[in-house]
Amino acid sequence: MSKEFNIENLVRENVKSLKPYSSARDEYDSSGAGMVFMDANENPFDNGVNRYPDPHQLTLKVALAEHKKIDPKNILLGNGSDEVLDLLFRAFCEPKTDNVITLPPTYGMYDVLAKINNVEVREVPLTAQFQPNLEAILDNIDSRSKLLFICSPNNPTGNSFDQDSIKKLLVAFKGLVVIDEAYIDFSINDSWTTELQTYPNLVVVQTLSKAYGLAGIRLGMAMASEQIIAILKKIKPPYNVNELTQARALQRVLNKERVIMEVSEILEQKTLLQQILPKIAFVKHVYPSDANFILVKVDDANKRYAQLLGLGVVVRNRSSQPLCENTLRFTIGTNEENIKLITALKGLN
Ligand SMILES: *Cc1c(COP(=O)(O)O)cnc(C)c1O
Repeated sequence: MSKEFNIENLVRENVKSLKPYSSARDEYDSSGAGMVFMDANENPFDNGVNRYPDPHQLTLKVALAEHKKIDPKNILLGNGSDEVLDLLFRAFCEPKTDNVITLPPTYGMYDVLAKINNVEVREVPLTAQFQPNLEAILDNIDSRSKLLFICSPNNPTGNSFDQDSIKKLLVAFKGLVVIDEAYIDFSINDSWTTELQTYPNLVVVQTLSKAYGLAGIRLGMAMASEQIIAILKKIKPPYNVNELTQARALQRVLNKERVIMEVSEILEQKTLLQQILPKIAFVKHVYPSDANFILVKVDDANKRYAQLLGLGVVVRNRSSQPLCENTLRFTIGTNEENIKLITALKGLN
């Protein structure tokens, strides 16, 4: 695989020939002591954010790289994983010509981004066990299939995909396999980042929006071969990750004990909910979860959703998704919040 795989065959022609814009802060960063910076038309009076941020986010990347046990050269940071996913479309998918594969029920942004970029989406539903349908996926790919989105643990079903199936897809698919690991920190499985050397077509996407508790600062990342990262860097806006985000993310990454503590508390709370939910009369099924949410099948999702809303509990109705008829998705809250959910559910009739 690694011998025959050539990323240049997947890149759009306009991206291949593009020279990236070189910003002022590309030439010199603003941390040099004793230097004066008269190159970027900034306001010189220091208020903490008067200078443009580091376009390479090097300090943050070094900390993340150490944490993830990879090289900073294998990381691209974006304004949430949504931006990172968008960059993948823009780098590799020729509008009206190329296609991408998604495995519904799954994260809605893949489809939205494909439509924004005018790229065909081939939907290959998961099996009844919420696992990738290998045969159907292989039937649907062709030489114009550029990206295959694998969300594991999957949103909204909550389960992780079979590792062997993913391996088979990494070998069989000639485009990029994008494994979205938004929920990996809650999972019993290891990240696929350990396999970046093995599979040159692997792109792992993660975010600080879930386990790291930083949805508000918007920081997502792609981890892939140096060649893939170099292509994405070429087309990213130079200052896509702002100074406040870089600082706040760094603080959190350097304080990972706190994150680990919160994750373990969330997992404990999940176990409690998983024990109580099946005892609610109108709950038909509680799906296994490897994430920080639980998908539940109920008697009438629209009715239960509206009732919960009336009691001030906002959940997600996923009934419109394939294989998800009459399902609600509950995000694990704090102990007090979960008690509110349970009390509300028990009071419904
Ligand atoms: C929540 C979520 C994300 C997060 O996106 P951000 O833009 O980083 O906040 C990405 N992928 C999946 C599957 C998600 O559920």
